[in-house]
Amino acid sequence: MNYEAELKVATEAVIKACRLCMKVQSSLVSEDSITKKDNTPVTVADYGAQAVVCRELKNAFPDVPIVAEEDAAVLRKGEGKTLVPGILEYASEVFPGFDEEKLIASIDSGDYQGGSEGRFWTLDPIDGTKGFLRGEQYAVALALIEYGEVVLGVLGCPNLPLDLRNQDGERGCVLSAVRGEEAWVRPLAHNTPKKIQVSDVSDPKNAPFCESVESSHSSHDDSSRIAELLGVKAEPIRIDSQCKYAVLANGDASIYLRLPTRKDYVEKIWDHAAGSIIVEEAGGLVTDIYGKSLDFSPGRTLSGNKGIVGTNGLIHDRVIAAVGEVLDLD
Ligand code: AMP
Ligand code: MG
Repeated sequence: MNYEAELKVATEAVIKACRLCMKVQSSLVSEDSITKKDNTPVTVADYGAQAVVCRELKNAFPDVPIVAEEDAAVLRKGEGKTLVPGILEYASEVFPGFDEEKLIASIDSGDYQGGSEGRFWTLDPIDGTKGFLRGEQYAVALALIEYGEVVLGVLGCPNLPLDLRNQDGERGCVLSAVRGEEAWVRPLAHNTPKKIQVSDVSDPKNAPFCESVESSHSSHDDSSRIAELLGVKAEPIRIDSQCKYAVLANGDASIYLRLPTRKDYVEKIWDHAAGSIIVEEAGGLVTDIYGKSLDFSPGRTLSGNKGIVGTNGLIHDRVIAAVGEVLDLD
């Protein structure tokens, strides 16, 4: 199947959302952030990015449903209402023609429940909101899922250096992958795509690993025990959001560990769909902590999986064995 049209629309939508997020991040003031019931900070940019991406997708593919992270309930009433004019202003700059009603309807068009049938998009308008608020890494993550399989992913990383070893160099990139067609990166500012590949590290000792900045999202204690068991010498690379998948896909890290901190937490499909296909098409492997493939078919969550282990593929079995030993998995 040819996904040229889907890739073009998805890439343009993600780039527009990135531009919106960059504008908000550069002028972030405390009133732009409210607190959702679960205490995650959510900003004008989360809603604005979701409105813009959903609108672009619905214009091009009106019949394809969308599973997106946010919903507009809080914007209709209470303190969230005060955010609407700001969201409208930012969204209108990158997508003319919004009014309040269209804006809210667009955000709510991401309310699909997912599942194993047909095709749908999944969107995280800002993955790594905490990184975004700290002025650090975040990502706009969009993927297309067909019959439970991710077939296309686009990841916009506005603050990610094109070369991690040159932190003063150009920042901002868009990674993308179509199943069976390899993985690509281009700078956010110009369309000059380059193929990316995972590292060729075959000894875990030489495998730098990445993990969440937030120890409440992934256990740093367990990862340091796993690193010790594997003999990993380098310090962990801590980055917010699916930028971790980007860093694994381009070979700057060889392992991504996301180790459960709570028994009851279930990963969300929008947190892993785009990142995982990019790593796989770059030659890597992404499973859960048991080594089981990610199953995107149950609905809005990865309820059949626990945690995440991504690697360059070559060292996957050894990393899974070490994870199993440290976490005492059967
Ligand atoms: P990261 O930037 O990789 O730490 O991940 C950010 C994502 O972590 C957010 O999009 C949340 O959906 C997700 N998240 C929130 N709580 C947890 C948790 N307890 N364990 C794992 N992920 C979580
Ligand atoms: Mg997220």
